[in-house]
Amino acid sequence: MTQVKKFWPILTGTHRYEKTLSTRNIGHGVIIEAPILAYLIETKNGRILYDVGCDYKKIKDIEKRKNFYEHDGFPFGPPSMTKEQHLPNRLSQLGLQSKDIDIVICSHLHFDHAGGLCEVCNAEIHVHKKELEAAKALSDEAYFKEDFMGSYNWKVFDSDYDLISGVRAIETPGHTAGHMSLLIELPKGKPILLAGDAADLSENIEKEIAPGLCWKNDESMAIQSIKKLKKLALETGAEIWPNHDMSFFESKNCFPKYLS
Ligand SMILES: [Zn+2]
Repeated sequence: MTQVKKFWPILTGTHRYEKTLSTRNIGHGVIIEAPILAYLIETKNGRILYDVGCDYKKIKDIEKRKNFYEHDGFPFGPPSMTKEQHLPNRLSQLGLQSKDIDIVICSHLHFDHAGGLCEVCNAEIHVHKKELEAAKALSDEAYFKEDFMGSYNWKVFDSDYDLISGVRAIETPGHTAGHMSLLIELPKGKPILLAGDAADLSENIEKEIAPGLCWKNDESMAIQSIKKLKKLALETGAEIWPNHDMSFFESKNCFPKYLS
């Protein structure tokens, strides 16, 4: 019996970039606007966030923005975040504060997923063992050391596991070393399988296309993970949600209302 009561996809910002970042080798010269999302799950036994978006201070502050985003490693510049999209403001729009979040599970530790950890620093932070290692080694340009080097209450995992009845973390490495997706059973309707960056766009799922950035430049692991998600979706009847697909997000967005 699922412990999940309510579920919100939450828009925390947007980023314009070349489509090849989402679909490997496909979309040269095509600029897309991607949502940057966090997902809130209210359960009978506390609240879980899957991803926390960017750290808005690194975008708002001119010096920080220069250091983190305005250099050759970031040809598309910083994401945009309106004030109402800042994570603390999103939570307050739901009548919540950061202390109301019990667990954060990070799909991975790239800047657009882990930047907001500083806003929920009292929560238990779940991450895959290999992800934390790869992030600390700054394995690619999308890891910002300052996002995850603070003293956090890490809980490290190295396999699929249940956070609570109705919420299961699924290993989907390939985009990064220790990427995790999340299967959520709502009280009614189809389960939701949040792909995270294992699949940015619906196209990644349908055509089994790896994301642009692959761990050790090996796309086979990323494609294996897409196949794993599709198999799990078939077995459970779940709908796979791509993570950076604006039209998909808009078809689901009902904030501040929730899905249940
Ligand atoms: Zn991302």
